[in-house]
Amino acid sequence: MSIPDKQWAQVIEKTGGPVEYKQIPVQKPGPDEVLVNIKYSGVCHTDLHAVNGDWPLPTKLPLVGGHEGAGVVVAKGEQVHDIEIGDHAGIKWINGSCLACDFCQQSDEPLCGKALLSGYTVDGTFQQYAIAKAAHVARLHKDIPLDAVAPVLCAGITVYKGLKESNARPGQTVAIVGAGGGLGSLAQQYAKAMGLRVIAIDSGEDKRKMCLEQLGSAAFVDFATSKNVIKEVQEATEDGQGPHAVILVAVNEKPFQQAAEYVRPRGSVVCIGLPAGAYLRAPVFESVIKMVTIKGSYVGNRKDTAEALDFFRRGLIKAPYQVVGLSELQKVYDLMHEGKIAGRYVVDTTK
Ligand code: NAD
Ligand code: ZN
Ligand code: ZN
Repeated sequence: MSIPDKQWAQVIEKTGGPVEYKQIPVQKPGPDEVLVNIKYSGVCHTDLHAVNGDWPLPTKLPLVGGHEGAGVVVAKGEQVHDIEIGDHAGIKWINGSCLACDFCQQSDEPLCGKALLSGYTVDGTFQQYAIAKAAHVARLHKDIPLDAVAPVLCAGITVYKGLKESNARPGQTVAIVGAGGGLGSLAQQYAKAMGLRVIAIDSGEDKRKMCLEQLGSAAFVDFATSKNVIKEVQEATEDGQGPHAVILVAVNEKPFQQAAEYVRPRGSVVCIGLPAGAYLRAPVFESVIKMVTIKGSYVGNRKDTAEALDFFRRGLIKAPYQVVGLSELQKVYDLMHEGKIAGRYVVDTTK
């Protein structure tokens, strides 16, 4: 396989953006790394948080963003023996970890203090050739389409993990807050596949239609037009007691301050979305007497990755996505900023 010296990439030169579409050198993988020819990459709201500098964790600069990259292994370091050139692989948010610390030993590698983050602390997948630690790349069966699977590599893994962390069981009800976005659309499909009943919360006719008609949610609550979100969510459950779990994947603070009020007694609130500068708030009295659990959930480990991909491969996960050229990434960010994306955008690195 011939690997070029130069490639197309979207580069952030300074925090705040914009991204610049230009040619940059192709890097060589280190001894424990692989070089993946990225064919498609999903665009996650995390990538936009990185451009904007929304979080109290600095990015590398200049930076190539992206962490939902699906492609083909084209080179590998001399210590890599369990993945071959020509294999299909996915580069996800956790690009590498130490594999030795307390957290790595317990397969909690997202919590590793030395974790490398794709498209944040190391260059990511908005380029044609990207590098990751071989131990952490997702193994993709060759029968999996690389465009459709790209969003699973962050959004899918993350919501699958979050649903597991919620402890909701088949037959119970889960509210997905931010249901119309990338994580939210996949969360509805994973929840359905896990036997859960879903209440989708987001805004606008497009998202309502997508959630109810395409993704199988039982109810939709429009946070922008509802007179009382808390009451409406509770009334959407059979006995009016509220959902057993709430999965928060919204990009605004307000729903993080409402969820504990409508969750069912003994229910759990799982925080996944990362709005800039946001705080959680919950009434102590109700949280105590309702025995509410509030927790965070952060991507997934390698086993969660394999399981989330297996759900996809079995045909259980079908969420809408649109493919555009890598050159159009800034337009995708603009639409995302306005909250206008129903589902996910995926960029094709050849265009
Ligand atoms: P997205 O832009 O595709 O979707 C966000 C959705 O939230 C939009 O549909 C928007 O309309 C909706 N929303 C905004 N305000 C709302 C409100 N008040 N109530 C309900 N919905 C509301 O974003 P995405 O790519 O799905 O990412 C979502 C968030 O998850 C981002 O903050 C991202 O950084 C974070 N994230 C976290 C993890 C993790 O491991 N914890 C992993 C990936 C992404
Ligand atoms: Zn570690
Ligand atoms: Zn992501």
